[in-house]
Amino acid sequence: MTHTALHFAAAALSDRGRKRAKNEDAFGYSAEHGVYVVCDGMGGAAGGEVASTLAVDEMLRGFAERGALSGVRRAAEDAAVAANNVVFTRAQRYPALSGMGTTLVALVVKQNAAWVLNVGDSRCYRLRCGRLEQLTHDHSLVDEQVRMGRITPEEALRSPLRNVITRAVGTQEAITPDCFEFQVDPGDLFLLCSDGLIRELTDAEIEVLLQEGGSLEERVQRLVNAANAAGGRDNITCILVQAFA
Ligand code: MN
Repeated sequence: MTHTALHFAAAALSDRGRKRAKNEDAFGYSAEHGVYVVCDGMGGAAGGEVASTLAVDEMLRGFAERGALSGVRRAAEDAAVAANNVVFTRAQRYPALSGMGTTLVALVVKQNAAWVLNVGDSRCYRLRCGRLEQLTHDHSLVDEQVRMGRITPEEALRSPLRNVITRAVGTQEAITPDCFEFQVDPGDLFLLCSDGLIRELTDAEIEVLLQEGGSLEERVQRLVNAANAAGGRDNITCILVQAFA
């Protein structure tokens, strides 16, 4: 077990896909503060784009502002709550944006530790020793039904209810993000992604694409290309973050 602080490198890409008229996903990161965010917006008119962009910006700004003052976990959770407040308040103020919301998945890294925050059905995975593992639980109706044993994961993929998410940023006055803490090993590769990737590719396919190597930029492009080749029915956004000794 090493206690040497790890270094992190990242690459990100967002693509409209092949069917949607616009891209309502948003992403951002600060290598300096070790925070990486993907949001998938929803809502009529410009709502989806506004919600996802506001949430990414507030998550990054809020974490950078609080990170030095409170512990990492507290700062990340408070920043996610602040992002909710910003989106919710904007939706209340402007009728055209009423009802907008967004998913949020964030990775925070510091030395040998990582925190994953999640609201909605965007995901975080980790590739470790060639094996892909999903670190987040979707806040979706079908995911709840799978966990209760009412439907199988295969049925969930085909369900007409698969778009129904049970938690979102900005649609309610209060949110509770899931927050998981992990130890990071050198070589660990984290993937943050919107559902546009997951709908088109199985976990096994994503695992193979990530194992193929190349730079992070090449690998993130490979994921987006594969999702588009498989149909590209939704916006596709991916961030890859890798730990180095
Ligand atoms: Mn989506």
